[in-house]
Amino acid sequence: MNVNEALEKLEQIELKIYANRHAMSLINYDAYTRAPKGSGDARGKTLSVLAEEGYKLMVNDALREVLGVLLENRDSLSEVDRRRAEVLFEDLEKMQRIPMEEVIAFQELTNKAQDVWHDAKVNNDYASFAPYIDKIVASLKRQSKYIDSDRDAYDVQLGEYEKGMDTKKLDAIFGEMKAGLRPLIEKVSSLPIRDDFLRRKCDIAKQRELSDRLMSLMGIDRNHCTIDETEHPFTDNFSKYDVRITTHYYDDAVASSLYSVVHEGGHALYELHTADELQYTCLASGTSMGVHESQSRFYENIIGRSRAFVSRLYPMLRELFPNEYSDVSEDELYRALNKAEPSLIRTEADELTYTMHIIIRYEIEKMLFSGEVTSANLPETWNRLYKEYLGIDVPDDKRGVLQDSHWSGGAMGYFPSYALGSAYGAQMLAAMQKDIDVFGSIKSGDFSKVNGWLENKIHRYGRMLDPTEVVPKACGSEFSPKYYIEYLSEKLKDVYGI
Ligand SMILES: [Zn+2]
Repeated sequence: MNVNEALEKLEQIELKIYANRHAMSLINYDAYTRAPKGSGDARGKTLSVLAEEGYKLMVNDALREVLGVLLENRDSLSEVDRRRAEVLFEDLEKMQRIPMEEVIAFQELTNKAQDVWHDAKVNNDYASFAPYIDKIVASLKRQSKYIDSDRDAYDVQLGEYEKGMDTKKLDAIFGEMKAGLRPLIEKVSSLPIRDDFLRRKCDIAKQRELSDRLMSLMGIDRNHCTIDETEHPFTDNFSKYDVRITTHYYDDAVASSLYSVVHEGGHALYELHTADELQYTCLASGTSMGVHESQSRFYENIIGRSRAFVSRLYPMLRELFPNEYSDVSEDELYRALNKAEPSLIRTEADELTYTMHIIIRYEIEKMLFSGEVTSANLPETWNRLYKEYLGIDVPDDKRGVLQDSHWSGGAMGYFPSYALGSAYGAQMLAAMQKDIDVFGSIKSGDFSKVNGWLENKIHRYGRMLDPTEVVPKACGSEFSPKYYIEYLSEKLKDVYGI
């Protein structure tokens, strides 16, 4: 087989892999949005057939042969084709290392764990969920060993979400963030800010209209991106031509859906702006969870909670909710949307305290993998760290250790992505401000400059770059959390006048 034949074959194989993933993702998306409650078993059958097909499409001699020819001739390939072959080979190797039985057993374990967790959370019944924590940790440790027996098991899991990241690096990054953020939290958390109006009842139909307006303000192409409603907001993408976001409306919390739309909109823009030439290949999507979160959290917090953005938002709220917002000034709205206060729930946390929620989870995950924490002392460890880092008492497990779905779904090592994303985003802002008038253009309602900068420096590359390459390439400097600490210090000075 020559190089051209191998490239042709690769294209055919990748198209099949894409089609299989497209079908599976769409079925999963349907499960979250429209499918009837009782459809789970039937869907499970289809998904397990497709998952097996997906495995076979990746792990087979034909693909190995094609990749072998391409990697042998890598110097004659275009940049994109070389990267395609390298990334796909790496994906294949990893997939093959974990035995199929382990993958299936883990799938079954986490399916069950998610159901149990759901009820445990509703009933505040940690004991029923506890055994699953130990089983999931044990399975993940085995999987890490299959993937790379020379590396620490938790480091392997971290690398699954953020390639190139490990505990040594994260300890240093989070150490710096902790030292920078804790004094700020102590300083502002007792200062009062008026925010009563954020809990006023706002008509859901009008909130839907607000979502549409926000999406068009952000420059999201509605021809390739829709919005649905789900319990927990998320973004899904099948290719850059078909991206879906979801939100959840609460009549007494207009900011909740509003910022979900801006956050998920940030994820959507990343996918919508990956390069055409990468579509239907293994390089098509965002490069990592951390970089994806950098985009969503950049739009949600750095842009979405800026004075410039609030100056666009304020007239919309006054027009859509004239009674609810008649006694609120633009400045009061800005301050309320940026109020910082230690709280129990990660997903509702403000920009300042959010990182501490992540650091707590990171430290617990490390201890779960080292054996220092097991299901037996997990809640007390959680509660102790919440007291130590955020100064608050956790009243029950429902609002404590049971609040997130990640662990029940088998994702350990995922949480750090959120904090990394926030910090990447602040560094991107610093670099972007050297090139364009970021907040001036947002204030004038023009997102094209910001979107264009991100598309050009980050989005279009998809998986062409490893996550550790994204910040240095886009910003011209090595990643450092100092930008994030500086950004937050400045922001809080403005919000609190301190
Ligand atoms: Zn997100």
